[in-house]
Amino acid sequence: MEDCIFCKIADGRIPAALVYENDLTLAFEDIHPMAPVHVIVIPKKHIPRLLDLGREDRQIWDALVDAVQEVSRIKGVDEKGFRMVINCNDEGGQVVYHLHVHVLGGRKLDDELG
Ligand code: AMP
Ligand code: ZN
Repeated sequence: MEDCIFCKIADGRIPAALVYENDLTLAFEDIHPMAPVHVIVIPKKHIPRLLDLGREDRQIWDALVDAVQEVSRIKGVDEKGFRMVINCNDEGGQVVYHLHVHVLGGRKLDDELG
């Protein structure tokens, strides 16, 4: 997708601080972190929203979950705990329309949701 910021990160057109990569996903530091650990995990494929993730994309979902687990270990929050958040559509707080998972941790998270 020409104008999608996360597609641009996925194909190297704009830089990001990479944390982890596997065949189907990429993880990088959020540019405006809301917690000491705030990593964004994306599928390399342009899927706009969680609602657009089809049954044929189950491998991608599995890879996203694998990546979140790896990121939690790499960032050292696996034992203490972390939060995985997906925002969907306007009232869900979605700003970037390329499916992504927020991995938040490094402090006690209260009721705010990413
Ligand atoms: P959302 O509100 O769920 O769409 O979240 C989008 C997230 O992407 C926000 O937390 C932004 O800070 C983050 N973000 C936007 N642009 C970049 C970028 N170029 N590199 C890293 N994170 C970004
Ligand atoms: Zn995209």
